[in-house]
Amino acid sequence: MKRVDEHLADILGSVRELPPLELALSEASGGVLAEPVTAPVDLPPFDNSAMDGYAVLAADVAAASETSPVNLSVVGDIAAGDQGAYGIAPGLCARIMTGAPLPGGADAIVPVEWTDGGTARVTIRRAATPGHYIRRAGEDVTAGQTVLPAGIRLGAAQIGMLAAVGRARVLVRPRPRVAVLSTGSELVEPGRPVGPGQIWDSNSFALTAAVTEAGGVGFRKGTVGDDPREVLTTIEEQLADADLIITSGGVSMGARDVVKEVLSGLGTMRFEKVAMRPGKPQGFGLLDDRVPVFTLPGNPVSAYVSFQVFVRPALRALQGLPPAPPRTVRARLAVPITSPEGLRHYLRAELSTDDDGDHQVVPAEAQGSHQVFALASSNALIVLPEDVTELQPGDTVDVLELP
Ligand code: AMP
Ligand code: MG
Repeated sequence: MKRVDEHLADILGSVRELPPLELALSEASGGVLAEPVTAPVDLPPFDNSAMDGYAVLAADVAAASETSPVNLSVVGDIAAGDQGAYGIAPGLCARIMTGAPLPGGADAIVPVEWTDGGTARVTIRRAATPGHYIRRAGEDVTAGQTVLPAGIRLGAAQIGMLAAVGRARVLVRPRPRVAVLSTGSELVEPGRPVGPGQIWDSNSFALTAAVTEAGGVGFRKGTVGDDPREVLTTIEEQLADADLIITSGGVSMGARDVVKEVLSGLGTMRFEKVAMRPGKPQGFGLLDDRVPVFTLPGNPVSAYVSFQVFVRPALRALQGLPPAPPRTVRARLAVPITSPEGLRHYLRAELSTDDDGDHQVVPAEAQGSHQVFALASSNALIVLPEDVTELQPGDTVDVLELP
């Protein structure tokens, strides 16, 4: 049997980064930046007020206090967006709003709360030192500075940064588009009645959601029965639009393993037994020289674990990100466990952290690959290496935190 690491290395060895695209900023969220972005101007672009208040000469208010307030004449109002019509001379001030440009001559802002709020004359009851509540040009970003390096995923804050430096379009590796398909003649869409021998399709929903969690865009293509022609046609139809295809079911040793049957020999598809539990029967390859196709086993827990172990890293690689697994922590086992020799074992588990920050982990009792309740009640997977067969309470193990 093939080792998990070997299978993952083969996958990552054949997945190529998606070509970068120039996208409008509103389409770029979740994309990975494919160019470094520099600021064309300073941010802030001009000195401005950090508060609603009065722009003054600090020297004029240096002696202001509750008991001996200072009175100044107000020359006018300066709102955000105004273009700096006023200059301030001794004895004068301007009422100013947050974000409005600092008028010439002024060197401090007195917040409105320290005054009587006057419009023609204002009484100021506290001193402000030079520079007080002034946001200086360039104190956030200086012109020419790299504000975002290539290779980072664009979250909300990074999208905001791009807009703040005036970018309308940006070069990104977009979120991979992933077609998700369930196979099996027993499968029925949730919401419809199930007859004898039938079950509701859960894999296509779970895997589409997993794609979203991993930073891709999932397209659920529903279910197809175990009919070779239908399965092949449906997979082929996805090739035009998908950056990656995931199927589940039909890849083990049964008489009706239709996915394996129709894809064997196509592209670089290979169907192998990987030394892991759950998830032994795996298929992977490129179709059309380009599109990675993962044919995952049908048991829901197997499909889900296979996604986290193999598909998630591939999705990251498509965007040029390090193909990391979900976050892994070391945790102390709460109970003894045994594991078959020679298999990488992924156990559904509950991970908790005590007040000292130490992690503890308890495996779920139900570890069958069909037992979705145990998976849905777990927040982590214990990862037991191939050579581990027995562990005692207190031993430490690697634990993948589930998204
Ligand atoms: P297979 O890999 O097609 O032999 O399926 C293995 C087991 O997983 C069978 O019990 C199937 O009924 C079940 N199974 C396959 N696909 C799904 C699915 N999409 N949702 C829920 N269970 C499934
Ligand atoms: Mg099946």
